[in-house]
Amino acid sequence: MVSEHASPLAALGGVDAGGQNVHVAALSEALARRGHLVTVYTRRDADDLPRRVRINPRLEVVHLPAGPAAPVPKDELLPFMGELAEGLQRDWEHRPPDLVHGHFWMSGLVALAAARPGPAGVPIPVVQTFHALGTVKRRHQGTADTSPFERRWLEPTVGRRADRIIATCSDEVVELKAMGIPAERISIAPCGVDLDLFPGSAPADRCDRTHRILSVGRLVPRKGVDVIIRALSLIRAAGLRDVELLVVGGDGDATATEADSEVRRLLAIAAEQGVRQQVTFRGQVPRQAMPGIVRSADAVVCTPWYEPFGIVPLEAMACGIPVVAAAVGGLKDSVVDQVTGLHVPPRDPHATAGALIRLLSEQGLRQDLGRAGQQRARALYSWDRVAAETEAAYLQTLTEVSAGTPRGVPGRLHPVEGAAL
Ligand code: UDP
Repeated sequence: MVSEHASPLAALGGVDAGGQNVHVAALSEALARRGHLVTVYTRRDADDLPRRVRINPRLEVVHLPAGPAAPVPKDELLPFMGELAEGLQRDWEHRPPDLVHGHFWMSGLVALAAARPGPAGVPIPVVQTFHALGTVKRRHQGTADTSPFERRWLEPTVGRRADRIIATCSDEVVELKAMGIPAERISIAPCGVDLDLFPGSAPADRCDRTHRILSVGRLVPRKGVDVIIRALSLIRAAGLRDVELLVVGGDGDATATEADSEVRRLLAIAAEQGVRQQVTFRGQVPRQAMPGIVRSADAVVCTPWYEPFGIVPLEAMACGIPVVAAAVGGLKDSVVDQVTGLHVPPRDPHATAGALIRLLSEQGLRQDLGRAGQQRARALYSWDRVAAETEAAYLQTLTEVSAGTPRGVPGRLHPVEGAAL
């Protein structure tokens, strides 16, 4: 596994640490449980990190130098990817892997560069999961997208050159085909949920308000927490006044979070909407505490502008908590409207308020949706099942490559001729 910015060992909730970290960690563990030897390569972002961390006899995390041994926003990492690819090649001198799986477009670049054939050999097969696509991000974020300009052609090139792409939802397949990737080279394997951790044993304490609604995620504008705050104000106007919105995520604990510009923006909206007293920012919550917090809520609300997959709704479903979900991206696959939650259009505070009023007013409906959600999470989204689907995509790739099926088409991988990538 190559996961340049998203270490499986990182704390979650910060701007660049969320679903991809969870995905790489849990998928790697599940593949190791199936008997594979898994190495996760990630960037060394602190100088006290050991080079190799053994998680269990079949799984290790390797920190490789790529730029400064300090936090660097992921959108500024491209210049260091050549160094990361060289580190991989050095690590593979004695024991190359059977297959490389890149996570995020820059890891795909690294995987393809490092997997190039040596003087005697053939390239190592490369499977790619994008987690997020630049085309979608640009469509929604416009000039606010801080991705490097080169992503516009490097990401599709990774898609065309990799031997197989694993999409995490059906919506992504449409986007990948629009990028010029043939359907026969795309597999689907969703994200999963840790069913050993969720639902946990007991709900966390909650404040003494009648209802709690919960938002969990990285605190970035595209997660749409402002939509929930505006909905809270409409819920209040409709007469449900005793509702708390708990917002989990951010770069540190609750106090540190107040220094965050996104929190200040959201607090200003809450004040303007007259619901400041009803909104609590909890800051970053460690994994072990998450199930209790999810279970303390009457509903989990996910109203992103767009969502490549979205693990949080699965965590809510695994806890038996109904989900109000914007009908975008992976949420259209994971949350079944009227069965495990309620769909609302994206960026629509009125529809979000309507769905929440219905849920908060009908305990029976909450219980029905919660029960169905738990069944769905258990039946379809265990990491063991996701690992089996991923393994099937790996085996198909290895079979095709050894049978000489034409591989991904060539294309320029680096804007600078002769550069390391
Ligand atoms: N998360 C966490 N602590 C936090 C905030 C988030 O453990 O303070 C976890 C959350 O439970 C979920 C992941 O981070 O497992 C977020 O994944 P998701 O796919 O929903 O969003 P992404 O970060 O990929 O946009």
